[in-house]
Amino acid sequence: MKDRTAFIFSEELLKYKFNSHHPFNQFRLKLTVDLLNKLNALDPNQIVAPRMASEEELTLIHHPDFIEAVKKAGSGQLSKEIAENYGLGTEDTPMFPNMHEASSLLVGGTLTAVDYVMTGKALHALHLGGGLHHGFRGKASGFCIYNDSSVAIKYLLEKYNARVLYVDTDAHHGDGVQWSFYDEPNVCTLSIHETGRYLFPGTGNINERGQGAGYGYSFNIPVDAFTEDESWLYAYTHAFREVAEFFKPDVILTQNGADAHYYDPLTHLSATMNIYREIPKLAHEMAHQYCSGRWIAVGGGGYDIWRVVPRAWALIWLEMTENPNCYGALPHEWVDYWQKKAGVELPKEWNDPKNLYPPIPRKEEITEKNNLTLEKALYPIRSQKKSESI
Ligand SMILES: [Zn+2]
Repeated sequence: MKDRTAFIFSEELLKYKFNSHHPFNQFRLKLTVDLLNKLNALDPNQIVAPRMASEEELTLIHHPDFIEAVKKAGSGQLSKEIAENYGLGTEDTPMFPNMHEASSLLVGGTLTAVDYVMTGKALHALHLGGGLHHGFRGKASGFCIYNDSSVAIKYLLEKYNARVLYVDTDAHHGDGVQWSFYDEPNVCTLSIHETGRYLFPGTGNINERGQGAGYGYSFNIPVDAFTEDESWLYAYTHAFREVAEFFKPDVILTQNGADAHYYDPLTHLSATMNIYREIPKLAHEMAHQYCSGRWIAVGGGGYDIWRVVPRAWALIWLEMTENPNCYGALPHEWVDYWQKKAGVELPKEWNDPKNLYPPIPRKEEITEKNNLTLEKALYPIRSQKKSESI
């Protein structure tokens, strides 16, 4: 299996860069790759360079006017007034030189992963540069310009005629991907995120279930602020297993934003490395159970780029390659080298310490609330199953 995994990467991916103080920082890709290298867990033969998505491929999802605007923005030719209509030049999604090319490469990386998996060149593929789930058809949003996952799913439908299950564990709702396929019955989206009550983008309610022919193929589990590992994992495990059994996908695409961690500066969940160990494990199992192994994983959010993202993302690759070398101490060469540059104390182990944060006072109430949310979100599947068994 080890030979049949693809790691989509090149340093060019780091050109997706808004400015030096923006929280979305692709330097985390480099930190992750270096962690894997220090572990001897990444063979050069497994690395595949991302290709550029063509404009025709971008139009699978994006409006040509929006693509034109992004191109102009990247060469400094878009006025601030017009840019705003396309969600560009905002504080969240500023304009930067060559943004069209940088964004097209992120999309192309996910398409490269898709082609590797669907042609059987790889069983699993990981593209940590992707996962920009907030991008809309005609508008940039929430650090995302083009939506690589939406383009890749449309490409999977058209080129490979595949039924796609999209599972999004970023702390933010996977709104862009959900709305792209809201009326599409061959794409099932499942997003587990912090409730939109206090967090961008505000959507992702249980009752967003799809429309028309796509009704019943959109699932949302909005968990409460301060949710901890156990409750989060209970929701994730039940939702993923039951939705996969219900939908029976041909391929699974997982979005692996690593911003549900307690340390993440932009969100309010209280998860630890435990969830990042379990997330890829279950995805891997489901891919083998339903899809002959076809699993594509992308990155996403993750704003503690030193203490959280490298470990969380390395664990995806280690799971994909069935590498058990992910317990106990981190390679000290990695810690020693980056400690000088980090500005925060780096973790020394794969797991977080047990007393990472003070006890959460409303723990029980939060757990109960999340269980109720899960119950409501999965009600259509569970009631259908019940009536079939009578
Ligand atoms: Zn996020």
